[in-house]
This record gives sequence, structure tokens and C-alpha cells, in this order.
Amino acid sequence: MTDPVRLGIIGGTFDPIHLGHLGIAEAARSKFALDRVIFVPAAAPPHKGGRSIAPAADRLAMISLAIAGKPYFAASDIEMRREGPSYTIDTLDEFSALNPDAKIFFIVGADSLLELHQWHHAKELASRYDFIIVGRPGSPLPSAEQLAAHFGQKAAEKLCSGILTVEPYDVSATEIRRRVAEGKNLSRLVTDEVAGYIIDKGLYARGEA
Ligand code: ATP
Repeated sequence: MTDPVRLGIIGGTFDPIHLGHLGIAEAARSKFALDRVIFVPAAAPPHKGGRSIAPAADRLAMISLAIAGKPYFAASDIEMRREGPSYTIDTLDEFSALNPDAKIFFIVGADSLLELHQWHHAKELASRYDFIIVGRPGSPLPSAEQLAAHFGQKAAEKLCSGILTVEPYDVSATEIRRRVAEGKNLSRLVTDEVAGYIIDKGLYARGEA
């Protein structure tokens, strides 16, 4: 029998995709021996924290530019094609149905882990799938006790086993949008191709970071 394909999924707004996203995907791939990592941009909710989000097609196009030449990375429009809110559990169930022999890992930053218990069907999500968790400046990892209180002992242990120790990536999409609005450069924050796309399309210029 062959080993199952190890599939990493990273969800988010990707507004825009930045070197932190690429860094955590790469770290997860190498430390957890993933065969493939798929970036899944969320469908555009009209507002995220009161601001408008770049069109889904632009966010997907920037992901494609950022991962070009890396055959083990892919982008999926699965959430953009689905009606209604983008729930991670639906996305992972869909990938699982499409890849019945795969082992699925959901990759998140520590800021997302802190909110995970509020997600749709959070307990099922934590027990059904493996997580790879990456530290993020300003977002302390929850303790094993906190995780156990939210998800139960067994799922908490599984979550803790997915914690990845890497040098943190001090970059956020919020910072990038702010820098664009202020006319600052994006070097070492996004790939050159993504920086070019942002300028060509005039994204984030209105300063709604
Ligand atoms: P924003 O600043 O708009 O909130 P973001 O930079 O957090 O955006 P998202 O698209 O919301 O980017 O993030 C997608 C996923 O990547 C989330 O799980 C998030 O925790 C994780 N992530 C993003 N940036 C980092 C980073 N620098 N370090 C670790 N995880 C990160």
C-alpha cells in the first residue's frame, strides 16, 4: 500500500498574499513532509472589519503570481465558487471528498488559532483534521489547558502536536495595504510580481487598510 498524499491547505483573505504566507507554507511543507500546499482565498465578504476587500479575482491572481514556478504549491477557487459564507470545515470536507486517500493538514497562524474556537463547527474541525500552527509576532499561542477547555483533551493534544517552531515572519497584509496607501515600497514583504500587480491594478491606493 502506498502512503497517503499529504495535503496542506492554507485559507485566508490573502489581501494580498505576502512573504509570511509563503514562508509558513514552505516551513509547513518541509517540516511535515507535505506533498502539496493549496492556498484557498475566502470569497469576498462585503467587509472585513469594516473595510472593503480586493476582488476575489485579483486576490487569486496574486496568489498565482506568488507561487509560479513552485509545482508543490497550488491555488484553489473552491470557496469563491461556493454560495454563502466560506466555512473552513466545508472547504476541508470538500477537499477530503475530492482526495479520499489524502491526509489533510490545515495550516494557520497563531492569531487564527486564538479565534478557532469561535469558528463554525470548531470542535468537529479540530478533531476531524490535523492542524499545523505557526507562531506570529503579537499573538501568543494558547496554552494546552486553554485548548483542552475549548476542544477537549484529545483534540487539544493533536493541536499541540501541530505547533511548528520557526523564526516568526513579522509581516501582515494590513501593513502592506497601509504601505501602499502611503506610497511606500513593498520590498521584502511581497514578491516583485505581486508588488507589480498591486501597482498596475491600483489596489489599496485609497488607504482603507
Ligand atoms: P490581515 O492583516 O488583512 O488580517 P493577514 O496578514 O493576517 O491579513 P490572512 O490572509 O488573513 O493574512 O492570513 C491567512 C492565514 O495565514 C491565517 O491563518 C494567518 O494566521 C496566517 N498568517 C498570515 N501572516 C502570517 C505570519 N506573518 N505569520 C504566521 N501566520 C500568518
